[in-house]
Amino acid sequence: MNQQRLEKYAQLAVQKGVNLQKNQGLIINAPVEASQFVRMVAKEAYAVGAKNVHIEWNDELLTFLKFKHAPIETLENFPKWRADGLEAMVKDNYAILSVYGENPDLLKDIDGEKIATAGKAAGQALSEYRKYMMNNKVCWSVIGYPTSGWAKKLYPEIPTEQAIDKLWEEIFRTNRIDEADPVDAWNKHNNVLLQAKKYLTNKQYKSLVYKAEGTDLTIDLPENHIWHGGSEFSESGTEFNPNMPTEEVFTMPHKYGVNGIVASTKPLSYGGNIIDNFNLTFKDGKVVEFSAETGEKALGHLLDMDEDGARRLGEVALVPHESPISQSGIIFFNTLFDENASCHLALGKAYPTNIENGPEMTDEEMDQHGVNESLVHEDFMIGSSELNIDGITKDGKTEAIFRNGTWAISFD
Ligand code: ZN
Ligand code: ZN
Repeated sequence: MNQQRLEKYAQLAVQKGVNLQKNQGLIINAPVEASQFVRMVAKEAYAVGAKNVHIEWNDELLTFLKFKHAPIETLENFPKWRADGLEAMVKDNYAILSVYGENPDLLKDIDGEKIATAGKAAGQALSEYRKYMMNNKVCWSVIGYPTSGWAKKLYPEIPTEQAIDKLWEEIFRTNRIDEADPVDAWNKHNNVLLQAKKYLTNKQYKSLVYKAEGTDLTIDLPENHIWHGGSEFSESGTEFNPNMPTEEVFTMPHKYGVNGIVASTKPLSYGGNIIDNFNLTFKDGKVVEFSAETGEKALGHLLDMDEDGARRLGEVALVPHESPISQSGIIFFNTLFDENASCHLALGKAYPTNIENGPEMTDEEMDQHGVNESLVHEDFMIGSSELNIDGITKDGKTEAIFRNGTWAISFD
């Protein structure tokens, strides 16, 4: 792979991703396969004045071996010293960069209970560390990396080396690496997302109406909802990009205010299963009927995950159909890419930051404001070149937001 483009990508991760500042530390979560690239990132980090770069390596083969052979009791414990170390670093304002390229099939034959046990143990041990991230107390960013497992899943018919190169091309293209000045291209792109989220937050639409083949859905939005997307600001006021690439602006639906039917437009990869060509019928916010051509059973499991939180929506996201990711026409089996290829909704938990004072609300207040709570947050794609979306204002006026899959409003 071309050295120059890799360097640009490393630079982009440090400058636009986590926007590392002088005398700041950096945690990098990365697969060992990415070691050469991680060294480049570390070099860029020291070039802008990092005081330390700490790497948390992972190796898919070792992960697999552990899940296959370790008894389930050993998966109940996440080492406290490890959680303590990470916590100490974020408390010292370390930024976090995750280099992400999971093989979507890695654990497909592993007992689901083992995976759930390890996930729960890590979730509990790392809850403080993750809070620093989810509440933007520190700068954090997730970027893609084409591991052999992921690349082979996408391009099974060609040799691994070529598959990796092909996936690199997609990662570079969707991250605007080949533009004359990628950092400047990102600034321009973020500005468009900023205009869109400002416009929509100011509008305070009462509801959104979706129409396409198989879809006729009305989604109410809670009062004082906030649209997010593109770059965000950390507690100390540093601008960073949580996801690279990113194309969406998103807010939360009212958990009791979704009515009608919606059809999926891309397959959903869920817990090692593919759910495809499905539709959901909502009444007062809850899925009351569903069917799927493929994976109907898995869809049922997902919907029955908890009392009824998984049957309600937690996110509504707008992504124009001509976004660079959707143009590729590829299903990436990787949320970082797939959710940025299409308008989508999420079943399950809503982001509290999508409503005024959300992070401070009690469970009861969240429910009163229509903020959904659930064990899951699962994006599914509903965008197409036929999708039209209208906004209904508080005084009942209808305004066009999307026409034929893209913005009916101009933000340049
Ligand atoms: Zn999203
Ligand atoms: Zn989501």
